[in-house]
Amino acid sequence: MAELAPYAVSESNSRGRQHPEQGPIARSEYQRDRDRVVHSTAFRRLEYKTQVFVNHEGDLFRTRLTHSIEVAQIARTLARAMSLNEDLTEAIALSHDLGHTPFGHAGQDALNACMREHGGFEHNLQSLRTVDLLEERYGAFDGLNLTYETREGILKHCARKKARDLGELGRRFIEGTQPSLEAQLCNLADEIGYNNHDVDDGLRSGLIEMEQLDEVGIWARHVAIVRNAYPQIAGRRLIHETVRRMINSLAVDLIEETSRNIRESGITALEEVRKAAALAAFSVGMHAEHKELKHFLRVNLYQHFQVLRMTNKARRIITDLFGAFMEDPRLLPPQYVKMAIADKPRAIADYVAGMTDRYAIREHRRLFAVGEI
Ligand code: MG
Repeated sequence: MAELAPYAVSESNSRGRQHPEQGPIARSEYQRDRDRVVHSTAFRRLEYKTQVFVNHEGDLFRTRLTHSIEVAQIARTLARAMSLNEDLTEAIALSHDLGHTPFGHAGQDALNACMREHGGFEHNLQSLRTVDLLEERYGAFDGLNLTYETREGILKHCARKKARDLGELGRRFIEGTQPSLEAQLCNLADEIGYNNHDVDDGLRSGLIEMEQLDEVGIWARHVAIVRNAYPQIAGRRLIHETVRRMINSLAVDLIEETSRNIRESGITALEEVRKAAALAAFSVGMHAEHKELKHFLRVNLYQHFQVLRMTNKARRIITDLFGAFMEDPRLLPPQYVKMAIADKPRAIADYVAGMTDRYAIREHRRLFAVGEI
């Protein structure tokens, strides 16, 4: 690995793993984290979980898995350009959505509503719960026993009340300090990823039209460059030439602005990163454009009536499943029945959150469709 910046996370400044283990032989500790994530059950499930479009609506739309891979690609570029820990960045990016429910945000909101009286449900916290507790792969401990720094990166936000239960990992939400630069950048790589692929998927689905995007600054600016370079270009090539330029502009802007922030704050060590204000940021102009695109997608894609119909169905499936298991936990698979003895609602939330879209649909049919067994 190329030499790391003095404020990058490294094995020498790591806070280590919860359960002490012998160091890896041919890999770094963060490669090992990445590998553990890639081999996990939760990671494979991402292939069949909705990003915006339900998995079976079309084979070309992003899923949670392809989204996570795109985020990892962007995040690694950022990390390498800034001499940060690329392996850690990849580990965080690939695991950032492991706790997502089926059916995207609709599923998360429905499960959160079901859990209102029982401590709530938050996908970000669930990602941490997945790697800390739910994965069953080792004889000596529950979960994947990832390094502190990967877990810190996974936990993007957390309510103060919950943070108190998380010990050292939760402290920054109480004290208002920051995670590593690697974690901060993954967070923004996630936004670059979904904003841009949702433009692509939105156009592909026909739910948004290219003409609508002309009112969005970042799109208008880049589509003009493409049309100027290729006057005859149209259709998919025009979309892809534009989207790849948008991703590139956002990434380059983020690298420049973040590097300037680091320089101007005189940061020389990881602990200073944690104590400083957030360092990873877009420039003021790019931030405004980025927000404008986000707003456009919310109004025109995420709230499109066809997406809302799916959202509505998802809410019903999640709510029905949760209700049926609450009423009779004996309907749960055996390992969850055992967990339900300690905390019934949480065990049910773990089970439901782990489902893929199609598993949830099938499970709903098995429990509710008259004439099915
Ligand atoms: Mg994400």
